[in-house]
Amino acid sequence: MSTSAQPWHVIAADQVLADLGSNRERGLSAAAVAQRLASFGPNALTEKQRSGLPALLVAQFRDLLIRILLVAAIIAALVGEPADAMVILVIICLNALIGVVQQYRAESAIAALRHMATPHARALRDGHYCTVPADQLVPGDIAILEAGAVVPADLRLLQAEQLQVDESLLTGESSPAEKDSASLQRVELGVGDRCNMAYRGTTVTRGRGLGVVVATGAATEIGGIAELLGGITLPESPLQQRLATFSQRLAGLILGICLLIFLAGLARGEPWLLMLLTAVSLAVAAIPEALPAVISISLAMGAHRMSRQKALVRSLPAVETLGSVSFICCDKTGTLTLNRMHAEHILTTAGELPAAEFGKGTAPLQRLLGRCLALSNDVRLDGDGAASGDPTEVALFELAASAGFDKAQLECELPRVAEIAFTSERKLMTTAHRDGDTVVVFTKGAAEILIESCTQALGDVGPAPIDRGYWRAAVEQLSEQGYRVLGLASGEVARLPQEQLSELERELTLLGLVALIDPPRPGALEAVRECAGAGITTVMITGDHPGTALAIARRLDIAREGEQVVTGEQLDTLDDADLVDAVTANRVYARVSPAQKIRLVQALQSRGQCVAMTGDGVNDAPALRQANIGVAMGLRGTDVARQAAAMILLDDNFTTIVNAVREGRRIFDNIRKFVKYTMTSNAGEIWTLALAPLLGMPLPLLPIHILWINLVTDGLPGLALTIQPHEGHIMQRPPRPPREGLFTGDMWQYILWLGLLIGAVSLGVQAWALQQGLANWQTMVFTVLTFSQLANVMVLRNERESLFTSGLLQNPALLGAVLLTVLLQLAIVYLPALNAVFHTAPLTGAELGVCLALPLLIVAAVETQKWQARRRAMRR
Ligand code: ATP
Repeated sequence: MSTSAQPWHVIAADQVLADLGSNRERGLSAAAVAQRLASFGPNALTEKQRSGLPALLVAQFRDLLIRILLVAAIIAALVGEPADAMVILVIICLNALIGVVQQYRAESAIAALRHMATPHARALRDGHYCTVPADQLVPGDIAILEAGAVVPADLRLLQAEQLQVDESLLTGESSPAEKDSASLQRVELGVGDRCNMAYRGTTVTRGRGLGVVVATGAATEIGGIAELLGGITLPESPLQQRLATFSQRLAGLILGICLLIFLAGLARGEPWLLMLLTAVSLAVAAIPEALPAVISISLAMGAHRMSRQKALVRSLPAVETLGSVSFICCDKTGTLTLNRMHAEHILTTAGELPAAEFGKGTAPLQRLLGRCLALSNDVRLDGDGAASGDPTEVALFELAASAGFDKAQLECELPRVAEIAFTSERKLMTTAHRDGDTVVVFTKGAAEILIESCTQALGDVGPAPIDRGYWRAAVEQLSEQGYRVLGLASGEVARLPQEQLSELERELTLLGLVALIDPPRPGALEAVRECAGAGITTVMITGDHPGTALAIARRLDIAREGEQVVTGEQLDTLDDADLVDAVTANRVYARVSPAQKIRLVQALQSRGQCVAMTGDGVNDAPALRQANIGVAMGLRGTDVARQAAAMILLDDNFTTIVNAVREGRRIFDNIRKFVKYTMTSNAGEIWTLALAPLLGMPLPLLPIHILWINLVTDGLPGLALTIQPHEGHIMQRPPRPPREGLFTGDMWQYILWLGLLIGAVSLGVQAWALQQGLANWQTMVFTVLTFSQLANVMVLRNERESLFTSGLLQNPALLGAVLLTVLLQLAIVYLPALNAVFHTAPLTGAELGVCLALPLLIVAAVETQKWQARRRAMRR
């Protein structure tokens, strides 16, 4: 086969296939694919390499303060105590190691998410169509293109049915390009004019096509512009940005305090080097410069966890936004319902018939209806004989098959010569078939729309003028029972219209109606109710009939008794101000087109609501982008919708959105808890170090103690806090206002008063030990402070629930981290080798008892506060 780049657009399709060693009927063989994959490589663009471990480690030392500390330690080693300097180095390295492990896990999580988001393509291999990861396509593969798909590789088209491709990515041209398969004449045509080619990364906006892969991976036109292809995006989350500014401001304040501590120490006659190291250690320990990084790590880990629960997050800030969602605008079919359609009734002029009895008669009506059902769809038969495609169509196909209408055989007798594709806007689909000298037309679609295009209805004795009133009433009645009602019609023309194919849909003969049942998803009702309890309104926005929509909405508790449905037509009559009023009052929207969805989102957002919106079609993309969280369907969604979305539901299930919201709230809560914990610990230390000289006491802690407490003892439990399970009331409280940051009123209060209490406890023990003349007073302060932090983490891990009801085992990792820290502290206090390193001295049993008992004050104080909060909540 030829491997060099060829002007494929001027070569005839059959020649292209021959050049590429492929076959129109069978595609490539598995062996040929394997061999080409080995020689051409995967159909992937070079991605940013993941940082290796050494690079991650170096990055940990990029912080200016850490560098200052290193320099100070080296000065200390040269002029003062080399042992101290060594310990400082070891502690910093330990801290860096924790950082590397976290960062590495986060990067692995993101890499896994990227991998899951790899798109798929349908290719013909060994004579069967199969779904393959798009990166496994090779030159010579034959691939199908469908509306909504992103073209997976550069293709020379072999077939194109009303195919339109949006090539703005490559050409900048905003209107979609029409495609066909005929060879072109001029080699020098630009990419935008090669209408028999489809290029990787462009999107199919309409129609269907078949093409042979001519280039993959970096060899494609877009190969050079890799970053344009949507992978997982990692912009900074709003929270991260706010926190970065906050950290900078706080850093200024803490540096000021450190300077004061330094000067106060000098004034008291402490050695300058000790004071310098103390001040720098405190600055390193207390400045929360790592907070933004912690947030991205928590979001990444959270996103990974969510992917295991079938919600694939494409942009990390979405995890944060999920916690604020106040409206979930959800489509019906497939998300709230199972999308497992099944025909139950057929209505013709001859009356209503259970679907199971269809096909028994031989009248022309039954024959035409059966042909229409079998032919007017794009259902494919997979290798194993299973029908795949749009579930509505599969249901009609199966109805036809059960009555003996064989699609494959009928397609030979009546070959398809033209089609008008289904779109959510038109809600109709038409196919035209050659039948001897004439062309027979089959149209199916939304019943009430089709009825208007029909001039007659077929009865057993032949066509008669249509009684629209009768049919409209029948549609209403079936819809109100929750059925999806499709109309089927036929027509006949002498030849295909030259200009407008849409002429085929005029003056049709109605054949009948089919009522399809699509049951609500199990668990959807409970999920809707859970949302209601969590202050989240569920809204149904569907393309289906108002009656069907309302019936299902009632079953799912989305609509209350007496609630109205708003239709797309009614929406168009509302101006923006009226729409804003309407969106807060209504819960069900039917026959809505994708373009109207965007107005609904905007109206809700203008009311300050945070909107999650689902979508699956090509035209849903703008609404998905407009929503605060665009949610695309992983199973039935189009590539275009998936690329526009912030989150993809791998199981298309409404319940998954609710689970993701719960997870988003949990992640946010845990980030808050982490920040609260770190900041209270830091506040405790700052109070201790700053107040001691003012109270006339010597420096309570040595630099290594400060670093040890902050970088190691705080680090381990802090890490475990991020996997704290959610609290019981998490879905019984209103959504967090989107603009609300981490530091709400009670957060500041907590940091200040608990920090002060920790400081007071430490200074109290210092004063007492000094008064008792205990030589190991510093060890006591160090130990009390460490244990106070641990007490703090154990009580703040649950915002509401008491330590005594949640039990110690609620978060085993946290308990493990706390116990490990206790053991390490005991080792520092009791092992002679570590005594020398940390300048500590063993405590007597009584002294240790004091160090263990005092932190219980923290537990008592916080538990009392939680108890009061619970009482207030109960009263409310
Ligand atoms: P949702 O928006 O909740 O997913 P939906 O599936 O009803 O609901 P659309 O896919 O836009 O929304 O379909 C709109 C209407 O078009 C349907 O109610 C149905 O009457 C009709 N329809 C759906 N699929 C087809 C099809 N393949 N061919 C013809 N008509 C169809």
